[in-house]
Amino acid sequence: MAGVFDVIIVGGGVVGCAVIWDMTSHGYKCLLLEKNENLVSEASSGNSGMLHTGFDSSPNSLEIQCIQHSFPRMFDLLKGLGLPYEKNGATMVAWTQEQVSRLPIITERSRAAGISSTTEISLSELYRREPGLSRHAQGALWIPDETVVDPWLTAISMAHDARRKGAMVKTDTMVQSICRADHNQQVHVMTSRGQFTGRVVINCGGLYGDIVDKLAGLQHFSIVPKKGQYAVYPKTAKHLINSSILPIPTDRGKGEIIFKTVYGNVIVGPTFEETVNKRRPGSDSNTIQRLIRYGESRVNGLRGRPIVNTYTGVRPATEIKDYHIDSYPERGWITVGGIRSTGLSGSIGIGDKVRKLVLGQHNVEPSRAKMVELKKMAVKFLPPSHAMVDDVIYTVTHPITLCRMDLSMESRL
Ligand SMILES: Cc1cc2nc3c(=O)[nH]c(=O)nc-3n(C[C@H](O)[C@H](O)[C@H](O)COP(=O)(O)OP(=O)(O)OC[C@H]3O[C@@H](n4cnc5c(N)ncnc54)[C@H](O)[C@@H]3O)c2cc1C
Repeated sequence: MAGVFDVIIVGGGVVGCAVIWDMTSHGYKCLLLEKNENLVSEASSGNSGMLHTGFDSSPNSLEIQCIQHSFPRMFDLLKGLGLPYEKNGATMVAWTQEQVSRLPIITERSRAAGISSTTEISLSELYRREPGLSRHAQGALWIPDETVVDPWLTAISMAHDARRKGAMVKTDTMVQSICRADHNQQVHVMTSRGQFTGRVVINCGGLYGDIVDKLAGLQHFSIVPKKGQYAVYPKTAKHLINSSILPIPTDRGKGEIIFKTVYGNVIVGPTFEETVNKRRPGSDSNTIQRLIRYGESRVNGLRGRPIVNTYTGVRPATEIKDYHIDSYPERGWITVGGIRSTGLSGSIGIGDKVRKLVLGQHNVEPSRAKMVELKKMAVKFLPPSHAMVDDVIYTVTHPITLCRMDLSMESRL
């Protein structure tokens, strides 16, 4: 039998995958429980696949701390495991004079968050860099470090590397109730596939994080899901832009971006909409038509070009914009909730923060030897919807990765 785990992680989205990777690499004996058949199949399977620098995050937020901790380490991880990424940078374009007046504020905010490389560029410089943009731009900022990755492969690789280092991952296993025994300070986790025992439980339940917290008798936030829709162009459009084209951000988020995935598809989105449906709500044609018109109005070469796909994602937003990372040593519990818009970018920083809480507040030491070194992974895509990582076959759940494999989408053109 598996015995007592140092930590049990609930949820196999990008956050749970990063937590198990970090903790296993540092010698913790870990178990990850995921209710779905496949890892990375909820919020983490419908994002933009961008590593954000945090240029628009609040300067003192937990979010910016986690993103900044992640950023250099994510490149070490991507290089170490041999995963694809493109540091294309982002160009924030102001299309009205009112938007131009906000560029210095955004630059200032970005610098306050420690990102000094964000700079205003002239219109001639903008069109030199992005000749495919419509001629109506009024001003622009250049954010050089914004990067695109394969969001599915990045998350799966963290869980896979943790498994290579001895962690246990159980899918199709829904956590149903929790019971903490005070006499030995162990937490019993009852699931659809039996009981597991750990010293600390980490709630990485994403869109269901508030429900998982209630199993431990906690109720500090509610998930208010926010849907994002995308329109996807074929890889033949990849020459039309060189960087991710950002609008001016608002209180609701970064806005609709025109970006090129790490595999060359051009995508317009995501929207930011209320929804009650956490489980991959469909896209609606009016919104997709609006995204298409938006893309065409900003990038000349998109005009009349057919899209090859659409997809949606749902953000695990809460009442506040920042992350909730809260530790309850008396319950053997850590909540990692409301990781709404930057979970991929901040994931390694979140893992690091959680490990420090496990050691510093729960006094749980790793019971195994540290194994932080990285070894390249052999990845083979098996169209239409699987990939083999080393010798393990995974179901691909993210449309960005699925588009990489779907040759029929390209041949439809
Ligand atoms: C439209 C959109 C665009 C985005 N773009 C970006 C981007 O470009 N860059 C970026 O960094 N971030 C982006 N994000 C944010 C990022 O995707 C999220 O922050 C991240 O996916 C949250 O991950 P998570 O692991 O917390 O949640 P999830 O991916 O939802 O994972 C939680 C997991 O917990 C499991 N679970 C829940 N309850 C139980 C239970 N009782 N038992 C067992 N398992 C359970 C669920 O099944 C799920 O798999 C975007 C998000 C959206 C929706």
